[in-house]
Amino acid sequence: MALLKISEPGEKLAIPVHRFAVGIDLGTTNSLVSTSSGQDIEVLPDDAGNYLLPSVVQYSAEVDPVVGKIAISAAINDPKNTISSVKRLLGRSIEEVLTAPQFKHYDFDTQRTDSIPAIITAAGIKDSVQISADILRTLVDRAEKFLGGKLEGAVITVPAYFNDAQRQQTKDAARLIGLNVLRLLNEPTAAAVAYGLDSRDEGNVVVFDLGGGTFDVSLLSLKKGVFEVLATSGDTLLGGDDFDYLLAAWIKSEASPTTELNPMEEAELLRLANLAKHQLSDQNETSLNYLGWSGVITRAKFAKLCESLITRTISTCRRVLRDASLSIEEIDNIVLVGGSTRMPIVRDSVAEFFGKVPLTDFDPDKVVAIGAGIQADVLIGNKSVDDFLLLDVNPLSLGIETMGELVEKIIPRNTTIPAAKAQEFTTFKDGQTAMSLHVVQGERELVSDCRSLARFELRDIPSMVAGAAKIRVTFQVDADGLLSVMAEELSTGKTAEVQVKPSYGLDADSIEKMLSSSHENAKEDMEIRALREAQIEARQLIDAISSARSIDGQLLIAQEAVRIEEVVVELQLLVEQGTSVQIHELTEELNRLSSEFASRRMDLHIGEALRGESIDEVEQ
Ligand code: AMP
Repeated sequence: MALLKISEPGEKLAIPVHRFAVGIDLGTTNSLVSTSSGQDIEVLPDDAGNYLLPSVVQYSAEVDPVVGKIAISAAINDPKNTISSVKRLLGRSIEEVLTAPQFKHYDFDTQRTDSIPAIITAAGIKDSVQISADILRTLVDRAEKFLGGKLEGAVITVPAYFNDAQRQQTKDAARLIGLNVLRLLNEPTAAAVAYGLDSRDEGNVVVFDLGGGTFDVSLLSLKKGVFEVLATSGDTLLGGDDFDYLLAAWIKSEASPTTELNPMEEAELLRLANLAKHQLSDQNETSLNYLGWSGVITRAKFAKLCESLITRTISTCRRVLRDASLSIEEIDNIVLVGGSTRMPIVRDSVAEFFGKVPLTDFDPDKVVAIGAGIQADVLIGNKSVDDFLLLDVNPLSLGIETMGELVEKIIPRNTTIPAAKAQEFTTFKDGQTAMSLHVVQGERELVSDCRSLARFELRDIPSMVAGAAKIRVTFQVDADGLLSVMAEELSTGKTAEVQVKPSYGLDADSIEKMLSSSHENAKEDMEIRALREAQIEARQLIDAISSARSIDGQLLIAQEAVRIEEVVVELQLLVEQGTSVQIHELTEELNRLSSEFASRRMDLHIGEALRGESIDEVEQ
């Protein structure tokens, strides 16, 4: 450690204190830890020089849990006590994991009441948080040994689509081993952090992240060291494991389709499939031996087997482009992240779709950990925060219910957060003194097709004619995704407010469903919106004419009154049965018919005002 200069009286010494923080990529298949080595961020290897720590934990009654490579070899002989892909258990209910084929060789504790999946092992019952904590502990030990001191904290990366429960359980795992979480960082954002500092590229970048168990595509705009996430999409149930399952199923069908496999044989089959998959990344074909059967699989055959998985990844890229309103030509670079992007079929398909060769400057396994390490270094105070900004996006539109059970979107999907937007609303009825506010989330036009987030009321609105009150509704989403909605009546300053976490209980599947249903129903939604708006406009005019007649009916000429009445009746009928165009046209007609009556009223009231009443009173 460098010695510090002794300060002279009056001399102000800036004392650089290097503090220890790490970035952790807690992956489904492998985990990594990185830290600042002064200038650069380094991914730390274990004693044997391996920087990837397999996210596998073996429990036994006699010794502490074994994590990593040794545990992988144990999986074959001791599958029930050797837990892999624990990340896929995080935030899931016991019901979900009991039916998932990849977990069927574990004995889950079905008696638990907290619904966190827990596995019965030789070392006792271990839940998903404890298992994740054992992986984290191994990484922290590795880092503390390297740094020669205690860590002050870590930035841990999570998939962009992790919901609140999954994020919380990741934090809980850290807390269990006394590790301070400086921040959870989305994996694609971490990759962007790494590239933003080390590459000179500017423009639009797609981060294509295909790991062991999750898939994320993000569209980022890189400008002068500032990253903005324009759009993200993904699939929490797609990854390298799925390529293994498909290949394993093919091997099984070739070797011995009818044999029932025991858990040990299944683990062995998966290991064989995984090995063959890796070999096919370097060579054109590989030979296989299983249960006495010998065969060969070529790259082309493997590509054919995995066609459906590749199609899913490309559809996601297409969706992200559509969400960001960008064309393929506007993408300058594609960054590949995750071990599965080593597969030539993945690289080729991405290159073919974007018409560009993807960037592979960084090792696809390390890039997320590097970004997390950089961010940890900033958060711990070793680097200026001004060095770069991190921006995230709001995954689904946030809006408010308006008349006709329609949704007015205030903060659209994929808006960069933190974000704040305000919009003015008014009252629908004369003398309306309270307004009910219903905050919703989703892409559809009708409230019934969106997710209800919160309801609250603004009271004590001064009594005015319909449309006169001004209510400003402000939506504010902070950096952690917390939404505050405030309604303010502008003449009195009276306010009401609510706070809600829009991501609560929202997982990738529900986001996907909400997005696809909005695309499927776009046309019908627009039609129903137009109809409801026309109906509201018509009803408002009918109400306004009726109230004007009750006050100033004497100003109507008899013939005019009859004609207006006829059209009002006709419009009332049309509102129930007509199309939006018909209703709109007749509303216009009624507007024209009543316009002279309206100007006579105006003249009368201005005359009254000139005789001493204030304009305000007249308007009231
Ligand atoms: P990650 O979660 O990013 O560590 O990704 C791990 C996934 O990448 C696993 O499914 C691995 O089988 C896969 N993977 C790693 N290296 C290769 C390779 N050379 N070829 C094919 N897949 C690979």
